[in-house]
Amino acid sequence: MAGILRFSSSNSSLPLKQLSNYPRIPSFSNFLHPPKLCFSHFRCIAMATSSSSTKNPSSATTFQVPELAADEMERMAEQTFQRYSSNTIKRKGTGTAIVWFRYDLRVLDNEALYKAWVSSESVLPVYCLDPRHFQSTHFFGFPKTGALRAQFLVECLADLRKNLTKRGLNLVIRHGKPEEILPALAKQFSAHTIYAQKETCSEELRVEKLVSRALEKISLTTTMMASSSAPKNPTLRLVWGSTMYHKDDLPFDARSVPDVYTEFRKSVEAKSRIRQCVKLPMSLAPLPPVAVEDWGSIPTVDGLGLQPQQVSKGMRFEGGESAAIGRVHEYFWQKDLLCVYKETRNGMLGSDYSTKFSPWLASGCISPRFIHDEVKRYEMERLANASTYWVLFELLWRDYFRFISIRHGNSIFQLGGPRRVEKRWSQDQKLFESWRDGCTGYPLIDANMKELSATGFMSNRGRQIVCSFLVRDMGIDWRMGAEWFETCLLDYDPCSNYGNWTYGAGVGNDPREDRYFSIPKQVSCFFSSIWVLIS
Ligand code: FAD
Repeated sequence: MAGILRFSSSNSSLPLKQLSNYPRIPSFSNFLHPPKLCFSHFRCIAMATSSSSTKNPSSATTFQVPELAADEMERMAEQTFQRYSSNTIKRKGTGTAIVWFRYDLRVLDNEALYKAWVSSESVLPVYCLDPRHFQSTHFFGFPKTGALRAQFLVECLADLRKNLTKRGLNLVIRHGKPEEILPALAKQFSAHTIYAQKETCSEELRVEKLVSRALEKISLTTTMMASSSAPKNPTLRLVWGSTMYHKDDLPFDARSVPDVYTEFRKSVEAKSRIRQCVKLPMSLAPLPPVAVEDWGSIPTVDGLGLQPQQVSKGMRFEGGESAAIGRVHEYFWQKDLLCVYKETRNGMLGSDYSTKFSPWLASGCISPRFIHDEVKRYEMERLANASTYWVLFELLWRDYFRFISIRHGNSIFQLGGPRRVEKRWSQDQKLFESWRDGCTGYPLIDANMKELSATGFMSNRGRQIVCSFLVRDMGIDWRMGAEWFETCLLDYDPCSNYGNWTYGAGVGNDPREDRYFSIPKQVSCFFSSIWVLIS
């Protein structure tokens, strides 16, 4: 049996007085009388299990996402790059520009890279391994980045360097703070501008400010500047690039985004358009005239101060843009799963009940605009139905939480949330640890939490259930759960994580999004599905 069932509950459960009304093990009657299921449910579960348990028998306990072989992935990435290349784009600038890669670890549809290339004669791509990303979470001191996400990042950087090198560039990798590294590089390479993707949350905004300030202290000699004859500082130019709908194309200012998602969605769908992906020439050469003495090596997980962790059960995601493009190809075109997404997306078994795009979206290995393009191409070449639309609907949730972070600022990280709800929360360490370690004695909770620790991933339905259990049934401070997710998730993204947690805790911006997930009901649904499979 694939996926979540491998992460079965251990016997070491904690007696939870508060929860004594709940059956820990689903009652036998759930097996005997599963709710009536339609054909689509059956199809969903059958598909969810097929890819991992039958098509990939080489490994009994782990399976790769995507399943494609390395050469196939590379071929798909190459074909896609070709499709999104253009030889008609002209450079209009002089001198050198730096691209500071942050959460946009891709070449395709990367507007910061595009702008740097167009505005210069040579580009220097840079990534900074910021030590602050490997410290502790804000309130509860968990590791800010867990070993599995660190491993995913390492793979993203290796793939980014490979893809840039194929296009005539490379990637400088440095350990240190961007506000120290970037000004030094700007000075050394006489770069007039540093282009980077704009972020929206306080930690990232602070770094942007520090980089800008540090650049003000650097002065370049006249001949090195793009257009002026007077000495100038290199400047930081921040480029929007994380969402499907561009911030500037919203029908309202991002600071006054509606608090009700449906209102936001209807308005955006009616009044805004999704921009085309930006195209680049196949060659982005040359590199700056000053030779780079040390490009810096691809980091290792222990080099980042973390204990490496192997995925020995369940899904193992491969980091990088090539894998992301491979997954889109696999999910949409090869397995043809896009047309049933709406029926399968709430599953928990295997890798194919949902797209699994989130880890690559969070690190920016793929742009939501590219996914939109692929959905439209699928609709033209195969079919358009509610499922094809629903992937865009879900991506719009991602956009929404990003814009909500602009509107509500740091309140999404605070106990009372954007609505400043006053409520008493417990920080009972034992209860929290039983949840964190998957030892509550409730198999559905424990299996999901173990899946998270072992793979860095959990299904959306799993996340909703364990969140509801922690905050509603255990009464634990929701930020403890959110910070544990921050540590573990491969797809950790402050906007989506804290946005969803505030909703789950009933403190989100929309008072109507206040959902409770009854464990017996969810267990019953889950085991009913299994019943269909085994009967
Ligand atoms: P699919 O179902 O295939 O959806 C396609 C894409 O739509 C996803 O990749 C994601 O980018 C977006 N999406 C879908 N649902 C949501 C949602 N509810 N909110 C925002 N975007 C969504 N998602 C993250 O990317 N990062 C997080 O840190 C994160 N934390 C979460 C915490 C909680 C408590 C909950 C309930 C949800 C969280 N989510 C988060 C949202 C969601 O669970 C994941 O995006 C989804 O499970 C990823 O799997 P997928 O790519 O197969 O999703």
